[in-house]
Formats: sequence, structure tokens, C-alpha cells
Amino acid sequence: MKRRIAVYPGSFDPITLGHIDILMRGLELFDKVIVAIAHNIQKKSLFTVQERMDLIKKSVMGNENVIIDNFEGLLVDYVKKVNARFVIRGLRAMSDFEYEFQMASMNRNLNIGMDTIFMMTSKDYFFVSSRTVKEVAAFGGPVGAFVPEVVEKSLKEKFSVK
Ligand code: ADP
Repeated sequence: MKRRIAVYPGSFDPITLGHIDILMRGLELFDKVIVAIAHNIQKKSLFTVQERMDLIKKSVMGNENVIIDNFEGLLVDYVKKVNARFVIRGLRAMSDFEYEFQMASMNRNLNIGMDTIFMMTSKDYFFVSSRTVKEVAAFGGPVGAFVPEVVEKSLKEKFSVK
């Protein structure tokens, strides 16, 4: 039987409980989900790609249906390379929709065999993003309700050394 593989791409700088919620729900639909960190030269990141991969690994704790990877270049090329057909994206608000709609349409144009599956954020996480979590953590605010414990610890370390 054909295994259903989906790619969940993003910056994950760092991974939040909002990401994990989408990932876990994605695993209900697919046999394997590849969490793929995109190297994005336009975005200045707080964590290196390796640090982000380690944080994801510790956050999903040995779930064998989750694969953690990173890629450079076009998402459509990466999706072909790993023999996947589906891409998972989370949607928080209307503001996400416009960009996601454009990207999904562009990607479908580049690879007609690929489909983007959108999952709506859970009510507990619609306001959670890596960016807002970093902003709060930078000023020593509590972020424990929005990120896994390892991420909370790493954020504290990052911001205390500055
Ligand atoms: P990008 O840099 O591509 O926006 P992110 O790391 O911010 O990547 O997010 C990856 C994916 O996870 C995106 O589809 C984003 O919409 C989704 N996502 C992020 N935070 C949440 C959340 N709180 N609830 C649902 N989806 C989310």
C-alpha cells in the first residue's frame, strides 16, 4: 500500500505549541509527516537550522512518524525529492490566508501533482506565532503556555546571554 507522506514546511524559529498542534493533527491524516525547515535568507533567525532541528526533535520525542529535515530552494523541488504529494500549512487568520493562497496557487502552478492541505489553528493557539513568542521572551515574559519546555529553556538561554 502506498504510504501517504506530507511535508510541513516553515521557519520553526522556534517551534511552538501551535506548530505541534498542526503536526499532530496532520499525523491523523498522513502516515509520515516531514517537518522541513526552510532556509530563508530574507528572514533573520534567532536559532540556527541545527538548533531548530534539535528543538523539534526534543519536542516530538521519538515519534517515529515524524521526520525532521531542512531544505534550500523551492518547496516544490523538495517535495518531489522526498516523493511526497502533500504539503501541510496552518492557518491562523485572514492575514495568513492571503499569503498562503498565493503560495499554494504558485506551487500548484509549478508542480501540478502537489496539493496544499490547510488546517485551521486550534482556539488555544490562534494568536501564537514564533515571532510573538520571541518578542515576549526577549523581555523575560512567560511563554511556557505557548512552547514546549525545551524551547522555553532555550529561549531563556538565548536572551540571558545578551
Ligand atoms: P513561515 O515562516 O513559513 O510562516 P512558520 O514557522 O511561521 O513558517 O509556520 C509554519 C506553518 O505553521 C505555517 O503554515 C503557519 O501558518 C503555521 N503556524 C504557525 N503558528 C501556528 C499556529 N499558532 N496555529 C496554526 N498554524 C500555525
